[in-house]
Amino acid sequence: MEEKCSCEPTEILIFPCSGGSNVGQIANQAGVKLTQDGMGKFFCLAGIGGHVSGMIESTKAGKVIVAIDGCPVACAKKTLEHAGFNIDEYVEITSMDIEKNPNLNPLTSDVEKVTQYLSTQISKRRGLL
Ligand code: SF4
Repeated sequence: MEEKCSCEPTEILIFPCSGGSNVGQIANQAGVKLTQDGMGKFFCLAGIGGHVSGMIESTKAGKVIVAIDGCPVACAKKTLEHAGFNIDEYVEITSMDIEKNPNLNPLTSDVEKVTQYLSTQISKRRGLL
């Protein structure tokens, strides 16, 4: 049976790795766009990595955790899992045929590709499709 929820966008927490590469910045920009589109709420991965208590508690209060990693090093996934969180939706951007490079100004088309994919996944989960 397909998993669905009735979560509000504010209960869907989005954690991009926001790394120093095109794919890290695609993750970041996709997180921004999903938040602006009302699909969820951009959250602070660094706060989780730093064990900031308020961030940990806010994350525990969330219902859906979305992690976006730029590459297989999987910093967002590892940071969240290290803090004891289960990830509900996940994408690793190089697995979408987007090659990693040092350019911090990623292609708009690549940002759109990742945003569209996650938007569909989150919509399915919310039963909006
Ligand atoms: S997952 Fe890859 S792109 Fe993202 S922060 Fe880690 S090393 Fe950088």
